[in-house]
Amino acid sequence: MKQMSILTDITRCIGCEKCVMACKELNETGPDRFWPWQRSLTDLSASRWTTLIRKTGNRYVRQQCRHCLEPACVSACLVGALTLTSEGAVVYDPKVCMGCRYCMMACPYAIPRYSWADPVPYIHKCTLCHEQIMNGSIKEPACTRACPTQATIFGDREALLNEAHRRLKEQPERYPFQQVWGEHEIGGTSVLYLSDMDLSFLNWKPDLGTTPLPLKTWTTLKTVPYTFVAVGAAMFGIHKLIERRMELQAQNETPSCPVQEASTNEGPPKPGLSGTDETTGLSTRADLGSERNGRSPNL
Ligand code: SF4
Ligand code: SF4
Ligand code: SF4
Repeated sequence: MKQMSILTDITRCIGCEKCVMACKELNETGPDRFWPWQRSLTDLSASRWTTLIRKTGNRYVRQQCRHCLEPACVSACLVGALTLTSEGAVVYDPKVCMGCRYCMMACPYAIPRYSWADPVPYIHKCTLCHEQIMNGSIKEPACTRACPTQATIFGDREALLNEAHRRLKEQPERYPFQQVWGEHEIGGTSVLYLSDMDLSFLNWKPDLGTTPLPLKTWTTLKTVPYTFVAVGAAMFGIHKLIERRMELQAQNETPSCPVQEASTNEGPPKPGLSGTDETTGLSTRADLGSERNGRSPNL
């Protein structure tokens, strides 16, 4: 698959919430909680990465991260905690996040949520099930798999666009809005919509334009007070200081063992020590990882 995508057809949704529950189960986001500043328990939240917006006449509109082709959240993140994968999913690494929440400000669709009430808060949002699909544990996102009416389907972006345009052409009376929402807006998104109602309330505003927001982000940043950038730089500095302190602390807490030290050149790294995973080639920093998880990025 070249470009992982989801097409949600509002006209087919029956509001069963199976997509929401499947996402919660797969990602173990826990029961819904009333987070501070949330309007309702069923709002998009740190424990609800996709939700349904209820409209009059028993109509339902699914909401989730759009996985922008040129994501503003990624360009706003100073430390690279959010990344755009080559498969089109925008994913998040909490170990890198410094908690500045610039991504929340940058997102044109108001998607990322922060686990405000947690002792160690992080950003939360739909991942397009990227990790699980890439490691082969699932073949498609839990939400699309669970949908009984195929109101939300998974596939290659090009194929889904073809399918969407076929539906628009064959049933114009069903789709008074003859457009695929997300095809072009601000550079396009991997999560596409077909709808018989105006989706402006999902922040698909008519004035979004087709220019990718990352281009605008830095143009805008140039015009904001230097303090905005300075605060970001200061937070990054503090984040690095804390990270360094934790590294030193982790080293100090590792008991010095002469036998172990003498044998380091004769065998594989001992559990709990820094090294390189032979299979993945990535650094293994288990001890440091658990230390890091004990820090609060909410400075
Ligand atoms: S919808 Fe928002 S959070 Fe999702 S990829 Fe786009 S900018 Fe990032
Ligand atoms: S794609 Fe995965 S993470 Fe995103 S809403 Fe669906 S199940 Fe949840
Ligand atoms: S599972 Fe399908 S029909 Fe049910 S709420 Fe989700 S999108 Fe709508």
